[in-house]
Parts: sequence; structure tokens; C-alpha cells
Amino acid sequence: MEEKSKSQELKEKLTYKKPDMFEKLGADGMAKCSEYAAGYMKFIDAAKTEREAVQYGIKLAEEKGFVEHKLGDVVVPGGKYYYNNRGKQLFVFTVGSEPANGVVISAAHVDSPRIDLKPMPLYEDSGFAFFKTHYYGGVKKYQWTTVPLAIHGVVTLASGETVDVAIGEDDCDPIFYITDLLPHLAKDQMARSLADGITGEGLNILVGSQPYPGYDGDEKIKLNILSILNEKYGMTEADFRSAELTMVPALKARDVGLDRSFIGAYGHDDRVCAYTALTAVLDTESPHRTVMAVLADKEEIGSVGISGMQSQVFDDLMQDLAESAGVTSRELRAVSVCLSADVNAAFDPNFGEVYERRNTAFANGGVVLTKYTGSRGKSGSSDASAELMGRVGRILDKAGVVWQTGELGKVDQGGGGTVAGFVANRNIETVDLGVPVLSMHAPYELIAKTDLYMTYLAFRAFNAEG
Ligand code: MN
Ligand code: MN
Repeated sequence: MEEKSKSQELKEKLTYKKPDMFEKLGADGMAKCSEYAAGYMKFIDAAKTEREAVQYGIKLAEEKGFVEHKLGDVVVPGGKYYYNNRGKQLFVFTVGSEPANGVVISAAHVDSPRIDLKPMPLYEDSGFAFFKTHYYGGVKKYQWTTVPLAIHGVVTLASGETVDVAIGEDDCDPIFYITDLLPHLAKDQMARSLADGITGEGLNILVGSQPYPGYDGDEKIKLNILSILNEKYGMTEADFRSAELTMVPALKARDVGLDRSFIGAYGHDDRVCAYTALTAVLDTESPHRTVMAVLADKEEIGSVGISGMQSQVFDDLMQDLAESAGVTSRELRAVSVCLSADVNAAFDPNFGEVYERRNTAFANGGVVLTKYTGSRGKSGSSDASAELMGRVGRILDKAGVVWQTGELGKVDQGGGGTVAGFVANRNIETVDLGVPVLSMHAPYELIAKTDLYMTYLAFRAFNAEG
């Protein structure tokens, strides 16, 4: 008996045991999860594009007393600011009482896979009017047919005025649709691979079928659609060339499951990390080090361009923080730290063969700390240091956050990337942390409410001690 209890003791000391989320949370914790989830679901319904996410973020920040920062302005300890980069990327930060000691950054992205309109989208064919599209980000094209779609975006008119477009979210609005073939006639289609069953050029949006009343010429249906758009937005066909219009699922966030444990919504990747990172900064009072949430654009296509994480604007803002603190930007960056706030794949038993069970994240397993992403031998990954993994792990443990490690599937099964490398390239220690997601990049993705809440708590703990 003596021997057995000694080995038992040793086992407990030496072996890693996964925390039990539900035991840890208890009834009080579960109630907090639900309460936090309700706020998130409002956000995700209102923020279906990067522009809408930035607008919503500014609204939340202003409600908490944050004020707009302009490049070159001096910032002061205790000051609460946001920097709006062209309505597509948002930085929200509270300057710490020790502003030269580095910035604690949580960097998420607010663009999600979707179906963008082409510059000249509208055409008529066989009694229908359609929009031509070019998809954005990594989508399984067949998933986007026969689901209700809404149109969101902006049009810059010939006058120079830019108008907002949103149709399909109100229950009284019409929605839009991509047709698919009936199974009765799909013999050839069904023999093709999933990747080729629906082609990119086949993702045409059905927008109408009635002629302009009393008109007898060519393209009567197209004229009718143009007339409706002109009446609503003052636009002409030529104005499509100066538009950013995108089709997103016309679906609202809903509880999923009899126990309501999941949230189904469009765009969890990565607005779930954007919301958790943002609210964590808004709720962090009087930090020692400066805390910052970044809501970046263009992650899904490589973090490129003026509003992506590779943009120089991030360095310019860091320079403002450095100069205000009386240090150089390089000194400030060297002592800063970043959580690359992005989702990871949650284990799905329906597709268990692509995951490696010992190293994958599970739904209700807590926030995922991901040392490296990438593919084919970690290519394209940032690969965080052992020291940073240890530091973040200690912070999460101390705060009682339920967390797990994760890897994106089996070796050589595929892979992916995040903004981590682009931040780390600036000499800022960076590691990936975020929510595990089921059906990532599908029109309707799933997350567990417990993981959402733990991710918020993780950012809170990191802001306090990062
Ligand atoms: Mn992502
Ligand atoms: Mn993604």
C-alpha cells in the first residue's frame, strides 16, 4: 500500500492532467459565460465586415471614455485612445503608468472569408440578373451555395460621396442566393471532387428576374435592378467600379445544442478573438504597461496592404507611444510582447483522422495557446520561444484560466498562418492564443461558450501581467 501511494503521488507530481472546464467554472462561472456570450452575439451580428467591426469597436471604446488618437499626437500615462486606420483596422490602447516598459499587445483580425463582388458585377442571363463574384480567403466553395446571403459594404459615388450598403439583415429585407444543381441532374457534378463541384466563376449571386416596367429593349431585368439600386443608393452601374461590396451569410448568431453550449455564427474567425481582446483592453483599468488591442484587416489574404498587420501604420503608432514615453521605437518594441489573437481548429470526431489527438485543441478545453502554426515542417510559422510559452502559461495558471495547447491538424495534413510572424518580425515576442473553432471558414462556424469566456479571461490576465 505504502509503495502504491508513493507512485500515485509521483504520478500526480510528474504527469500533466487536463483541467476539467466544468468543474472549474461551476454554476457561477457558467452564468458568467452566458452573460459574456450575449454581448459577443450582439457584436458578431452587427460586425459582418471589417468596416462594421471597426465601427462597433469604436462605439464600445467611446462608451468607455476612449478618445481618438491622430498619428503624431502625444499620449499620456492613463490616457485611453483608439486609432482608426481608414475604417478597416482599429488600435485601442490604454497608456500604462510605466509607458517605457513595453506594450502588451493582443492582435486579432476582423476580416473573414466571404464572397466579394467583381468591379463590374451585374449581368443578365436567361431571365435572371446576377452579380459576378471573386471569393475572399480560403473557402470551400460548395458551402456557399443555397444559403441566404446579405450584401454589405460601401459605394463611392461619382460625386465622391461614399454610401453604406446593407441589405439582407432585417427580417423584412430580401436576401440573395447562389443556386446549386438538383441531385437528379448532378451525375457529372457528383463525380467531381468537392473542390471542383462548384467553381469560382460559378459563384454568381441571383439578384432578380423582373423587367423594368414598360421597357421593351435589351437587358430589361438588369435595368430594373439598376433602377432599384439608384433609387436606394443614388448609384449607377459605373459606380460598381468604386465599390467594396461583399456577400456574407444572412444568418444571426444562435445558441446551438439542447444545452445551449455552442454559439453558431458567421465570422467567429477571427472576430471572436477581436471581441475578447478588445473588451479585455476596455476592462483593464490603470495598467502598469501600455495595453493594446489590434483589430487588423486582410489576415485571410496574407495580412497585406494598408490595413493589414504588415502595414507600416503599426510601426508609426508604436513610434508615437515610444516618443511620448521618451524612448525610441526600437527600445519600446524590444520589451513589448504580443498575443497573436486568432482561432485554432477544434477537434471534430466526425473528421477525427485529420487531427492528432494528443496535440489538438478541444471544444470546452479552454483557450488555445499555439506555439507554432505553418505547414510542411512549420513553414511560414513564427514558432514562439519556450520562455514565452512558459511566461504566458504561468500567467494563465495564476489567473485560473483554463487553457490548452493546440496544433492545426496532423503533420502534413495542411496548415495555416496568423499575424504572429508579422508582429514577431518587428522584434516583438509573439505567440498565438485564441478560441478553438469547429467548421472554421464555413458560412456558419461553431465555438463553445466556455472557450469564449476563457479567452476573454486570458487577455485580461495577460493585460494585467504580460
Ligand atoms: Mn484567423
Ligand atoms: Mn481564417
